[in-house]
Amino acid sequence: MEYNIGDIVRTKKVHPCGSKLWKITRIGVDFKMECQGCGHVIMVERPKALKMITKIEKKAEN
Ligand SMILES: [Zn+2]
Repeated sequence: MEYNIGDIVRTKKVHPCGSKLWKITRIGVDFKMECQGCGHVIMVERPKALKMITKIEKKAEN
């Protein structure tokens, strides 16, 4: 799967706020993702991010 900045993705793990949706805000060695439930931002190493993402919920609109 290929990801772009602005994509909304679904993850296996539920964030403590109850949301499973994250917006990708940076792609590189690390992925930066913003929780769509509470706005919390996390940095995840690329391999980990690729494992935790189950699907793209909504593609970024260009
Ligand atoms: Zn959250």
